[in-house]
Amino acid sequence: MSEGKLLPVANRTESFWLTERDPELKAARTTPDLPSSADVVIIGSGLTGAMMGYHIMKKAQKEGKQLKVVMLEADECCGSATARNGGHCKPVTFIGYRSEAKKHGAAVANHLLTFEEAALGLYADVVRKEDIDCDLHVTRAIDVFYRKEDAQSAKLDLEARAAAFPDATRAGDIRLVEDPKVLEQMAGVTGTAMGASYPAGHLWPYKLATSLIRIAIRDGMSIQTYTPALSMEAAGAKWTVITARGKIAAGKVIVATNAYTSSVLPEFKPLIIPVRGAACSITPPPSHSAAGIPGPFRYSYGFRHAQGQIDYMIPRQGRGRVPGVGDTSLILGGAKGVYLGHLDRWYNNKHDNEIIPGTKEYFEGYMSDHFAGWRKGEGSVDHVWSGVLGYSSDLLPLVGEHPDRPGVYVIAGFTGHGMPRIPGCSDALSTLVLSDSQSAQKTFETALPKPYWLTRERLESKTNAIKAAMGQGEGVSAARETNDEVNMLAQAVKAKL
Ligand SMILES: Cc1cc2nc3c(=O)[nH]c(=O)nc-3n(C[C@H](O)[C@H](O)[C@H](O)COP(=O)(O)OP(=O)(O)OC[C@H]3O[C@@H](n4cnc5c(N)ncnc54)[C@H](O)[C@@H]3O)c2cc1C
Repeated sequence: MSEGKLLPVANRTESFWLTERDPELKAARTTPDLPSSADVVIIGSGLTGAMMGYHIMKKAQKEGKQLKVVMLEADECCGSATARNGGHCKPVTFIGYRSEAKKHGAAVANHLLTFEEAALGLYADVVRKEDIDCDLHVTRAIDVFYRKEDAQSAKLDLEARAAAFPDATRAGDIRLVEDPKVLEQMAGVTGTAMGASYPAGHLWPYKLATSLIRIAIRDGMSIQTYTPALSMEAAGAKWTVITARGKIAAGKVIVATNAYTSSVLPEFKPLIIPVRGAACSITPPPSHSAAGIPGPFRYSYGFRHAQGQIDYMIPRQGRGRVPGVGDTSLILGGAKGVYLGHLDRWYNNKHDNEIIPGTKEYFEGYMSDHFAGWRKGEGSVDHVWSGVLGYSSDLLPLVGEHPDRPGVYVIAGFTGHGMPRIPGCSDALSTLVLSDSQSAQKTFETALPKPYWLTRERLESKTNAIKAAMGQGEGVSAARETNDEVNMLAQAVKAKL
């Protein structure tokens, strides 16, 4: 029945994060039969679906509304990008500012940055409030620039933002490190041109998402795993969601399916493309295992090698609430340099059941190539996996009520950079789902940067900036020449910052 649909494949690679699955949620169905109706159907149980479920149940409760909410998941609970990512909440804080300001104006460009900067606080709030065990660690990220031209361009972005928005930039606490020797002492990295550090965080995304789903279930939400939504049809003012196990009549539908959005909304096929990515976990040698105390890895990292070639790494700081106790693996992702030249290996590729050729070897040599004192052959790469990211054709998330399908809300297309965006997007969209009032619309529009809004113009756009942004295909040479249009924007967007 789902033949030919863009849905998760079978036998997917095992990520580090999936080594501790939630056994009860994995194949959960809160009722044996599919409910026949719901006020709200949420499609997708990744971090986005989880946060939507959490907010909807909590806000409805607060307003005294009794809502019947059903979450549909095509595969196991939360087994897609959220369970395969780098665990890095690294906001874009200045890179790309000038090109965004040119496109949208300075205020909107600044809003894009402050929106991401706020995510860390939103994670901390929910983790604290609900006492969630997801190894949230608030730290500083350091962006490491290897090419002088990229460093120079980033510096100009920072100066431009600081000149236009001195208070916001100061609040962002961005510190440049221009001396490579100082950078090596601070962050252990060798062969660099410049570094920039700012507040960021990392966590166990699967655990956060499944904890939020558990809370929503406790509050009354139903979940139905292994139940792909195959299509939806208008039924008067409502929607009928068609699944392999039957139909659900829904007042409202939230599509939180990221890379797979065209499986239920075919018009999104040119707008959100499945893009395959890779990551791994590494057990560091004793020389680099000083987690939780001042040691070699005081930062999380973004490594900017060249256009389209950005790696990222988080040093886990132990389990639970005692830093330094328990697992201190490194999670390293990227390796794009080895596969971007082979378009079929990543673009429009949903096969996270295979490791991308060359990525294992790349990860195995990475730490000794880039970190002082890490000798060749030291440490072990324990898990290598792939995952499917949802790249939007203009590289920004698509969030809001569908212009042609009233009552259907989309929150997808995070373009490999969902962690600093999903908390704010889900909070804003849940307000809109719960109320058709003008004030809810205003709250949504005030909270969410305008370029994220799901407008008719974006829905009908024929632009596709993905390949050029990744340093492939047409438009790349122009990007290389200017070095701060598509190039720097793309670096900012896809760097898992
Ligand atoms: C290798 C890799 C590394 C990454 N690193 C980072 C990082 O370090 N920092 C960062 O910010 N971002 C990173 N990302 C991106 C980040 O993981 C995503 O932005 C985020 O997880 C998206 O969450 P989501 O819930 O929207 O999507 P997903 O987690 O993919 O969830 C979507 C869910 O919808 C389900 N679904 C799809 N279609 C249907 C259907 N028709 N019916 C029912 N269910 C359906 C899927 O099975 C899935 O469970 C990375 C991604 C990958 C793959």
